Amino acid sequence: MTPPDFPLVDTLPLPARPEMERAYLNGDASYDGVFYLAVKTTGIFCRPSCTARKPKPENVEFFSTVKEAMFAGYRACLRCRPLEGEGDRHGLTFQAYCRARRLAAALDVIKHRGEVDEAVFDAGYESHSGFRDAFARVFSTAPGQAVSADAVRLGWMDTPIGPMIAGATDTGINLLEFTGRRMLEAQLDTVQRRFKQPLVPADHPHLDTLKSELQSYFAGTLREFSVPVVAPGTDFEERVWAELCKIPYGETRSYEDVAIALGNRAAVRAVGRANGLNRIAIVIPCHRVVNKSGELGGYGGGLWRKRRLLHLEKSSSSQRDMES
Ligand SMILES: [Zn+2]
Repeated sequence: MTPPDFPLVDTLPLPARPEMERAYLNGDASYDGVFYLAVKTTGIFCRPSCTARKPKPENVEFFSTVKEAMFAGYRACLRCRPLEGEGDRHGLTFQAYCRARRLAAALDVIKHRGEVDEAVFDAGYESHSGFRDAFARVFSTAPGQAVSADAVRLGWMDTPIGPMIAGATDTGINLLEFTGRRMLEAQLDTVQRRFKQPLVPADHPHLDTLKSELQSYFAGTLREFSVPVVAPGTDFEERVWAELCKIPYGETRSYEDVAIALGNRAAVRAVGRANGLNRIAIVIPCHRVVNKSGELGGYGGGLWRKRRLLHLEKSSSSQRDMES
């Protein structure tokens, strides 16, 4: 098999076939939108998360877009409805995000006008108790106390390798994570615990900066992010994350290299673990750490994303070198 060619922006390569097979057999919704599977025996194509009976891998072919699957003569599955828009793609995480967005509008009303009644009405809830329960679930605080509450502001970032959720306080960005990632919920919990603030989908200047820097990064024109970052962790995690930030754009280090740089060659596994707990993907470049053998190693956001990020950085670096 020849290695796939990855253009810098927009078009998405398919993940490796074994990875896609694993994904649809497990009904893994984090791959929804990444690929579609088409079943030769039925002529139907599905999202990876489809709950219909799983076809045998030998009867399946994979497409990266709905269009390709349809051009190949397949019809859309009536159960997982692959033709339906973006909004349905990201499963529960996306719905939870929308619900939180709606509640955030209510939080702003309370903060600015001190009017709980109006907030209930604006958020589309019929009763105070229903609103209070939903609010407490999302913000971990009762509406009456929200006026004084500060919050981690959450924003939605679209990137060529899938949407991400970012978090910010006035001191900086404290979260950047792929929305499909199973760890997202856990990371949101950690942020909430570390910062002792509710999570509120809302705007923030740091989120605006991050959004435009991500655009430049994916266009291959930005090598270092300037947006401030706040990443509290254990002493060891913080040392690992600081070390990751020293790996130059376009280069990689092994887990062992990082352990040695920290003065403890034996800490390879601990380095790997801290690497995986990085909450600020891309900006703290945990994707630049690979296995000693040169294999990619792990990546919480999915190996195809890691491959894609490294390819992007390598291509932009060599392009830059040729120009200079
Ligand atoms: Zn289906």
